[in-house]
Amino acid sequence: MSILQAVRGTRDLLPPETELWNHIETTARRIFERYSFGEIRTPIFEDTQLFSRGVGEETDIVSKEMYTFTPVAEAGKNRGQIELAQSLTLRPENTAGVVRAYIEHKLGETGQLQKLYYIGPQFRRERPQRGRYRQFFQIGAEVIGPPSAGSESPLRDAEVLEMLATFLGELGIQGWRLLLNSVGSATDRPRYVQTLRAALEPVVAGMCEDCQRRAVTNPLRVLDCKHPEDQPIIATLPRIWDSLDEGSKEHFAAVCTALDACGVAYEHDHRLVRGLDYYTRTTFEFVYGDAGEGGLGAQNALLGGGRYDGLSEAIGGPKAPGIGFAIGEDRLVLALEAQARHTPQLAVAYIAPLGERMNGAALVLAKELRATGLRVELGDGSFRLKKSFEAANKLARAIVILGEDEVASGILTVKRFASGEQFKVPRDQLGQELALTPTATSN
Ligand code: AMP
Repeated sequence: MSILQAVRGTRDLLPPETELWNHIETTARRIFERYSFGEIRTPIFEDTQLFSRGVGEETDIVSKEMYTFTPVAEAGKNRGQIELAQSLTLRPENTAGVVRAYIEHKLGETGQLQKLYYIGPQFRRERPQRGRYRQFFQIGAEVIGPPSAGSESPLRDAEVLEMLATFLGELGIQGWRLLLNSVGSATDRPRYVQTLRAALEPVVAGMCEDCQRRAVTNPLRVLDCKHPEDQPIIATLPRIWDSLDEGSKEHFAAVCTALDACGVAYEHDHRLVRGLDYYTRTTFEFVYGDAGEGGLGAQNALLGGGRYDGLSEAIGGPKAPGIGFAIGEDRLVLALEAQARHTPQLAVAYIAPLGERMNGAALVLAKELRATGLRVELGDGSFRLKKSFEAANKLARAIVILGEDEVASGILTVKRFASGEQFKVPRDQLGQELALTPTATSN
């Protein structure tokens, strides 16, 4: 029989790597909570219309990357009627789900800003490669609310960006860059698109096939093109900045001033645009390394986000502008691994019972130490001493020998592996001693 494997584009995350995932998530929770964000958990699948309306039919995500299914219709239990089969989709992103929940639970009626973060898997049928998966994980947040609650303030943008810089800093990610732009208001963008179309007309024939198609369907996407031959042409295209109204320019300047004040570095990237109608004003991306050698290749975008207005209305809700971001957790893990910023943790001790008769006593000792919060490995009395040492050396920073004498006298023998020192310690001081054993080298 053939061996079953994880489906293409999905993968298992195993220890010790999952320690790094947990470390990232714990750090995110700790920091986001400092900024008064609360966690939201939305369902993994939603009505397909949520994404076609909330993300946009014309996007790659909706037009070709969604996992959509229609469960077999169920017979209604009570009246024998048939429930209409509803088209469902595994969420390809989480903003639409958060905004749906905001509307469904009337969170806008509180009159206050809602600051919500989420952590979880998303699904897109993209071509899998390093840093790009079909089930991937995002850590994201939205700040959303009625304009009267201050949801349109540039200070919200700056605060979110400063929080992200703090998060990457606390994780120890080095060499990230913040790319920042403004895509203006819902009226600026059509004006720009018109200008862009006109500018593309005489030059597009010399561009790549994708650009030729995009020039017709969604000219803004031409700016995303990575083909080296097209770059000189793109450099001559008009910039969105010149189509922005005064309000948008002032908003952008206010975001920059606040970032300057708190020392968050950014680069104004005129090509950073988002094609969706409801994206307004600030848009941003944090990238890691360069797209070339040593970086994550084309997958060097660690996270993306921006301000939006009209999304809530697109899915039937009240006016609720917001700003949000989604961090690619898979890519953060790759970046941290590339920098070797995280050393898997070893147990503080390996308890080695000498003989199977000591197994029970060893379990009790392990329980006592674990109750004090220490991470402990428990050996097996059927192991010979040599085998116990070999196992302990791989799993823990020290070994504690537990034989009949030790149990009777309450004096235990400990050996620390890093220093090679061996000593005896009374049982009631064991926990303290072990806690003092230096951790494995970390850089
Ligand atoms: P988006 O929701 O497309 O704005 O993406 C936000 C972030 O999620 C990106 O910057 C990536 O870091 C990450 N991301 C998007 N798609 C994938 C994918 N297929 N695999 C891994 N990470 C992804």
